[in-house]
Amino acid sequence: MAILRFHAIKESLAYNSITIDETERRSDLFGRNVFNESSMRQFLTKDAFKGVMNAIQHSKKIDRNIADQVASSMKDWALSKGATHYSHWFQPLTGVTAEKHDAFFETIGDGVAIEKFGGDQLVQQEPDASSFPNGGIRNTFEARGYTAWDPTSPAFIYENTLCIPTIFVAYTGEALDYKTPLLRALSAIDIAATDVCKYFDKNVKKVTSSLGWEQEYFLVDKLLASCRPDIMLTGRTLLGHSPAKGQQLDDHYFGSIPRRALNFMRDLEKECMLLGIPAKTRHNEVAPNQFELAPIYEEANLAVDHNSLLMDVMGHVASRHNFKLLLHEKPFANINGSGKHNNWSLSTDTGVNLLGPGKTPMSNLQFLTFFVNTIKAVHEHEALLRASIATASNEHRLGANEAPPAIMSVFIGEQLTKVLEELEGVTKGKLSPKEKTDLKLNVVGKIPYVLLDNTDRNRTSSFAFTGNKFEFRAVGSTANCGNPMTILNTIVAKQLKDFKIEVDALILKKGLKKDEAIFNVIREYIKSSRNILFEGNGYGEAWEREAEKRGLSNHKSTPEALKAKISKKTLALFEEMKIMGKVEAQARYEIEVETYIMHIQIESRVLGDIARNHVVPTAVKYQNILIENVKGLKEIFEDGYKALAKEQMLLIQEISGHIESINANVTKMTNERKKLNGLADMEIKAHGYNKNVKSLFDDIRYHCDKLELLVDDEIWPLTKYRELLFTR
Ligand code: ADP
Ligand code: MG
Repeated sequence: MAILRFHAIKESLAYNSITIDETERRSDLFGRNVFNESSMRQFLTKDAFKGVMNAIQHSKKIDRNIADQVASSMKDWALSKGATHYSHWFQPLTGVTAEKHDAFFETIGDGVAIEKFGGDQLVQQEPDASSFPNGGIRNTFEARGYTAWDPTSPAFIYENTLCIPTIFVAYTGEALDYKTPLLRALSAIDIAATDVCKYFDKNVKKVTSSLGWEQEYFLVDKLLASCRPDIMLTGRTLLGHSPAKGQQLDDHYFGSIPRRALNFMRDLEKECMLLGIPAKTRHNEVAPNQFELAPIYEEANLAVDHNSLLMDVMGHVASRHNFKLLLHEKPFANINGSGKHNNWSLSTDTGVNLLGPGKTPMSNLQFLTFFVNTIKAVHEHEALLRASIATASNEHRLGANEAPPAIMSVFIGEQLTKVLEELEGVTKGKLSPKEKTDLKLNVVGKIPYVLLDNTDRNRTSSFAFTGNKFEFRAVGSTANCGNPMTILNTIVAKQLKDFKIEVDALILKKGLKKDEAIFNVIREYIKSSRNILFEGNGYGEAWEREAEKRGLSNHKSTPEALKAKISKKTLALFEEMKIMGKVEAQARYEIEVETYIMHIQIESRVLGDIARNHVVPTAVKYQNILIENVKGLKEIFEDGYKALAKEQMLLIQEISGHIESINANVTKMTNERKKLNGLADMEIKAHGYNKNVKSLFDDIRYHCDKLELLVDDEIWPLTKYRELLFTR
């Protein structure tokens, strides 16, 4: 086995990076493989074009006749680009994208074949998807599932297949994917936010939610990674001693990008351009061999699709460059993990960012309205927001002493904190003309200047305001952003809906002027959601104690956190906002709990296997070498051997000690698994896997890592951290 490790090291050092041809401008490449507005203009009839645009902009249904025309033109376009197959492209609850390719090719008798693709195939399909998780929704044959075209996310060609973004639902109507509830949430926030905008500008007809994600990832040499069963099967290292040099020197972050990684990025960005993913920023991250890619932000549904697509494309491109892509939140112990900040904002069809400063006092009051409502929404539903990012892999970051903690809090900066404090002092009921003018000029009026200077960013906060957007930082690097985006948009939509009701009541029943009513409601919101605001160090223990006093949840384990997804409060919220019915919410919950169990189970098996079948035999082999050495010394020096073999004999004992501990813990872990696997109750099982199985990982790892330090490097079979992290 060690032979494989040294072979891999040799090969990886000899690897010659592929250079990427970048002669074509990015703006020329952009969207070339996307059936976007300009290709639609070129390929569609006027009527068909109008139909699709109406569906995109005003959620109008596309009729059958138009669908046939669109399908036919889409086929012509795809064939002109060399596509051979088409596929409905969707995001089932596995978290990764799914596709089933069908050829355009069709026989029409007499040995003749044509390329065919009609409205039927475009609009709806029934993939044999019985193997996707459905949480019990689709367990009977009368409730089959189908995929349906989502015209708001344009079709694209990837590797000769025309991919049509679709939703995935049961015939009984329940969503079986991440996209359907997201589309419902985006519609809910559009309605609620547009209503509130009308206080400020009657012309607003639509509010769009935007998302700009920042994808962090690791690249390790493919051959070096393939010597590690843990990386191959779980996407992370389950053991491995820290190298002498890690990230202490901070010499990787924003440093010059290693050539091979840079060539990977160039290649990847070229693919992004063709697929219409607006990749913009690339840089080294904090840990060695860790990097980030960020695009220009887009409408949330499209941004979610683009991130899902990107994660897939990244893996293919990495492989071309002999890299193994690691999207896992914590691939290596003791160095930084990966996240995916979700930058979120709302904007109107009149071109106003509702979370950005305005030019007039009224538009700044509008900013404050959306700003404070978002804070209040996070306060009301902090546990649900935490649940939206709870997975086995993200558990390694949240609350495990790494950015950010498992506690949801909002960071707004010193200046805005002052503004909110001043607004807390607004008089109840009617305001005097002097107070009104004062508020507009000196409090609300200051906002644009405050925001210009909003540079004191607190990196330890899970949800931070960064000048013209909120940044949800606790999202994991492997996440499908659809999950957190559904929750965030839903809770803010609900909050805005309540806000509108309260303001209207003050206007109609108490006779307050519009701005007075708004100031009054905002004042109460600031008071009641003060507990979610936190400007201090989110990693500190003091914050955990403080958060507990404030009544904020701190769910470190995933099974604990997921509970909020089916609480009474959440089910009522989903029902009211028409996001999900009880069956759908329950199904998702069950799938996520089960996925958690399976992840820990797989990791536990892999760890047991590596410890027993790789580490222990290697340690024994080395111990035998030492024993031979001691025997030899004894033969030559007779009684004098004791002084000469002292260290070797200590090592022999030390190795036995570690082997004993490893064996005892692996046996214990296997027995715990057996006990838990017999349980029918998934919730108890998940807690058990967290408390009794995962908890043994660290101890097993500790002894394996000690052995790594003792055993001769030449016979150690697993690629070491220094090789994985510093070979570029
Ligand atoms: P960083 O957080 O690394 O300092 P930035 O804050 O400049 O970087 O931007 C990160 C991401 O935020 C990018 O993907 C960018 O497109 C996105 N972004 C910028 N403005 C907005 C906005 N108004 N709404 C949503 N996303 C935004
Ligand atoms: Mg950021």
